[in-house]
Amino acid sequence: MTLGRMALRTCKLLSSSSHFASMQPSTPLFSRQISMEAKGFTARLNSSGLLRTQGLIGGRWTDAYDGKTIEVYNPATGEVVANVPCMGGRETNDAISSAYDAFHSWSKLTAAERSKCLRKWYDLLIAHKEELGQLITLEQGKPLKEAIGEVAYGSSFIEFFAEEAKRVYGDIIPSTLADRRLFVLKQPVGVVGAITPWNFPLAMITRKVGPALACGCTVVIKPSELTPLTALAAAELSLQAGIPPGAVNVVMGNASDIGDALLASPQVRKITFTGSTAVGKKLMAGSAGTVKKVSLELGGNAPCIIFNDADLDVAVKGTLAAKFRNSGQTCVCANRVIVQEGIYEKFANAFANAVQNLQVGDGFSEGVAQGPLINEAAVQKVESFVQDAISKGAKVLLGGKRHSLGMTFYEPTVIGDVKNEMLISREEVFGPVAPLLRFKTEEEAIRIANDTNAGLAAYIFTTNVQRSWRVCEALEYGLVGVNEGLISTEVAPFGGVKQSGLGREGSKYGMDEYLEMKYVCLGNMNSN
Ligand code: ADP
Repeated sequence: MTLGRMALRTCKLLSSSSHFASMQPSTPLFSRQISMEAKGFTARLNSSGLLRTQGLIGGRWTDAYDGKTIEVYNPATGEVVANVPCMGGRETNDAISSAYDAFHSWSKLTAAERSKCLRKWYDLLIAHKEELGQLITLEQGKPLKEAIGEVAYGSSFIEFFAEEAKRVYGDIIPSTLADRRLFVLKQPVGVVGAITPWNFPLAMITRKVGPALACGCTVVIKPSELTPLTALAAAELSLQAGIPPGAVNVVMGNASDIGDALLASPQVRKITFTGSTAVGKKLMAGSAGTVKKVSLELGGNAPCIIFNDADLDVAVKGTLAAKFRNSGQTCVCANRVIVQEGIYEKFANAFANAVQNLQVGDGFSEGVAQGPLINEAAVQKVESFVQDAISKGAKVLLGGKRHSLGMTFYEPTVIGDVKNEMLISREEVFGPVAPLLRFKTEEEAIRIANDTNAGLAAYIFTTNVQRSWRVCEALEYGLVGVNEGLISTEVAPFGGVKQSGLGREGSKYGMDEYLEMKYVCLGNMNSN
């Protein structure tokens, strides 16, 4: 399939007319300039062999069996970057069979052999950091520097789990009977279905596939249809690293058909998912039919609590990072900035000043800190949340509308006097809008923070050590940042409580999600 080729028969679910309907770039010159730049990048990617536009099944690059395709867009310009296959149940079943066949050999390799392949994959990902970063910016929109940062972060999971592969220890249990010996073996769960979102096109894949492969599992990846190109490039590098055909498969297209095939197959023993809570619940319910192991990273509603005793500079810097990274499009982004009344005015002013300095633009332009939102639906969601807050008495301190660049660019926004009942406090805005809520006491802050079904990330800013312990313990969240807004790392467990999900990714605990325990009782030890 060639770059930019018109779709043979474009998938109904993502037609170009609906995707960017009603969006016109307000500055055609800007759009044309970017288009030239993007073309240069895609040409370079193409020559490096990393611009893959077919699915990967059993080590073979494959079109959809009926020839249908989906267009992949550059969200900064609305232009079609490439067409990829619109696959469904049949292709997914073949990918599952390939993964199942490959499981028998991959899981039999020694941990050291698997580790070497993973390490090679890591080296290749890092060697192609620039190109992969460009691909992320092209299809996802985040600033190039941030995209290259994602490549470093995403690759770190492959490096970490290459090492962790060698540390899958079993156990010997002291027996209750003299003529018995009791053992625990840890074994790979089997074929894994990994379904990932568009906000981290690489990292959400590597933190699933890294531990899965390290344990001896094989995978069928379904990346987001909005950002499949990074996934395909990473898969190409996995082949170059010597990871055998069939161990890593990639299908994309009709999400529910692919999901249904993964759920229905008794050969798929594990579903790992990052995405919306609604889809996560569907996948969890659908896994019941074949009793699969499930891990879910779902939506958050992160509180960011600023106490009167916070260091103002640290709080502003940390909140800025926690809120505006990836234009607010991460599940750990601060969704509610909850500020104690004694520091509220000072914080609001300093924070709005800092936000004002965030440069908005195409991710390929120098100095840009905020790219476009992923699509029109995302902007409309942000607009409706802001409108709801204003109609209920909140005040826009900065921004509050679409950016003059047009397309899906939105002004970095700060809203004051937000109340807990407003839509923007109840649900994830997933955009560059920071709502400020006021509180009086520590107890009130904890009550507001925990008043949600979500429980992924929380942040607190205080210089009081006792308070930081008390509040950390009281917060019903899987991750807490104290005086720090960026806390994700491959060596620490990432995951939520309540309806934010099940299981942990990264760290030594991330391995358990892909392992089964087998208890072995060796009896009759006294006979010869
Ligand atoms: P987001 O709003 O972040 O796009 P989604 O949950 O819709 O979150 O998407 C996350 C991933 O889940 C994407 O790869 C998407 O294609 C996939 N997905 C959406 N619906 C289904 C489904 N019914 N079955 C399997 N995967 C799905």
